[in-house]
Amino acid sequence: MKLVIKYGGTSISTPKDIQSIAKHLSLISNKDQILVVCSAISGTTDDLIEISELIKKENKSKAEQLVSKITSRHKQLVNKTIKKLDVRKKLLSKLDQDFTELLALIDGMVLLGEVTPRSMDYLISFGERLSIKLISSAINDLDKKSIPLTGKEVGIVTDSNFGESKPLMDTTRLRVSKTVDTLFSKKTIPVVGGFAGADQHGHVTTFGRGGSDYSATIIGSCIKANEIWLMSDVDGLMTADPKIVKNAKLLKEVSYVEAIEMALFGAKQIHPRTFEPLLAKKIPLKIRNSFNVKNEGTLVTASTSHSAKNTVKCVSNVQNNGLIDIQGGSMVGTPGTAAKIFTTLAKTGINVMMISQNPSESSITIVVKNTDLDRAVSVLEMELLGKIIKKLEVTTNVSIIALIGSGMRGTVGVASKVFGAVEKNKVNVSMITQGSSELNLAFIVKNSDTNAAVQALHDAFTLDKIN
Ligand code: ASP
Ligand code: MG
Repeated sequence: MKLVIKYGGTSISTPKDIQSIAKHLSLISNKDQILVVCSAISGTTDDLIEISELIKKENKSKAEQLVSKITSRHKQLVNKTIKKLDVRKKLLSKLDQDFTELLALIDGMVLLGEVTPRSMDYLISFGERLSIKLISSAINDLDKKSIPLTGKEVGIVTDSNFGESKPLMDTTRLRVSKTVDTLFSKKTIPVVGGFAGADQHGHVTTFGRGGSDYSATIIGSCIKANEIWLMSDVDGLMTADPKIVKNAKLLKEVSYVEAIEMALFGAKQIHPRTFEPLLAKKIPLKIRNSFNVKNEGTLVTASTSHSAKNTVKCVSNVQNNGLIDIQGGSMVGTPGTAAKIFTTLAKTGINVMMISQNPSESSITIVVKNTDLDRAVSVLEMELLGKIIKKLEVTTNVSIIALIGSGMRGTVGVASKVFGAVEKNKVNVSMITQGSSELNLAFIVKNSDTNAAVQALHDAFTLDKIN
């Protein structure tokens, strides 16, 4: 079997965890061909982003202090993880080259006094450059052949949209499959850095935060993997946030479309484009816990088996949002009203999370993050108030509650069950949306009503008895 196994940062942050992962990988590699994808060690990408902020403020000494923090953390990990002296020495000297390059890069960026999207991607890709060398050496330490490769080195080619790049799949497929086939034929385990690739000019690009998941599925699709495992510190996708619902259950099986919805809302953050590369080849993906490998986790496939087709699979929530009710008589029957509102918001870089408009057309309600609310209101006021808009009504601190499950489609009575349960708990609903895919029914309550609403729905759909 061909496997792509991806580790999140929290799974590879202590010597003990790295050693046990290396052992696990070495065992699997006795019977399967494996390719490993790694995130940066937890906290490293955050530190690198902070360095970029310090560069903008021309605070070079603080930036260099943070580099020393990253350096000593990695060296400590090396010293406590790698037992064989020769492996350790070689690794430390390779890491030293990276640290030197990182300092030189910071020097250059400070001199120029600017952080461009391109230099930013180069800077924040360093976390994975370091982690792959450590993990690969930990495998060497067990006398198994392994080499570290960055996304660029393995052959991931992207567009030049720095910070949010997309792979050019045809070129990528040719290059990645060639690199990996050669390594597999030499019985070498490739350890590839997630999150980054390079554009056609060879400049390093990244996929956006959490992008290592996406790297794993891109590579998995290129090498026609039989399965992809995303290993992190949670058991898989759950029926609700276990911090809110004590009897929340692990979901054994969900479909790609359900998983995409859950990734957007759920407690387990998965890069939103992760599932895209899998759709055509229908490669199964497992979300598993690296600290609990006996557990099979959540299996995500093109379609779920019949037994797993519950009406609703999960109740998720996102708190701390703002609701804006945009009103105005001249909106009625005027083509282009919605376009004007959304273009205005888009120009300001504001992401709209929910939209609803009733057929009277006298108001459009939208939900944005609390942190975007101020900017959203002021740009709408500046550009549209007194023209197509008469009044804006704003509510802060609202929570999105979303029910997800493809079994809702065509099932009669879901909405009445949902709002009946909410009503019994005296929770007020201020907005409702459901796309015609009927895959996701979402509504808005006050932040403070979140727990009551989530628990009530979990109970109403008996999600503790799922599977
Ligand atoms: N290291 C990157 C981040 O923290 C990518 C990833 O973890 O997937 O966002
Ligand atoms: Mg991560």
